[in-house]
Amino acid sequence: MFEPSCSRCADIVSRFRFSTNLAADGPTIPPKEDGGYGISVTRRGLPVREIMEAASSFCALLPWPRLQRSLSAQINRLSMIGTCDLVYLGKGGGSTNKLYGRWDQLTWSHPTTLPLAALLYFGWQLKFGWMACANPLEMEKSLKIAYRQTHDNRLPPLMKR
Ligand SMILES: [Zn+2]
Repeated sequence: MFEPSCSRCADIVSRFRFSTNLAADGPTIPPKEDGGYGISVTRRGLPVREIMEAASSFCALLPWPRLQRSLSAQINRLSMIGTCDLVYLGKGGGSTNKLYGRWDQLTWSHPTTLPLAALLYFGWQLKFGWMACANPLEMEKSLKIAYRQTHDNRLPPLMKR
C-alpha cells in the first residue's frame, strides 16, 4: 500500500542544506559551526515492524537483561515512524558539539545511533540537513514548535523530548 509522505515536515526544514546521503563523506559533511539540524528519510527499506521483530530477536538473545532493556527501548522508538520523512531535529553548538560533531556522534553515541543503524542495515536511506545560526538553542526550540504545530503536538518520531 502506498502512503504519500508528509509534506508538513518538509516545510519545516525547507531552508536546510541537506547532504545527499547521511553516510556520505566529502564536501557535503556538515560544517564545524553552530546551528540546527534534521535527519530525513530519502528511501524506505524493510517495514519498521519487521525491523523491530528482527531487532527484538537479537536483543532477546543477549545474556544481560539490563542491556536487553536498554537496547529494546532504543529500538522501540522506531515504532513511532509513520509517514513523516523527518525523523529527528536537534542542535549543534558549543565548543565541541558543532554540527559536524553531532553528525559524527550519530555513529557512536547519539540518542538515535541504534535506531539509525537498524534502519540503515535494513535498506533505508537517510540524509542529514542543517542550517548554521548564531543561536542553536533558539533555533531548535522554534523547529520543535513548528513541528508540534503541524503534527498534533507530537515531536519527530525518533525524539523523546
Ligand atoms: Zn510530517
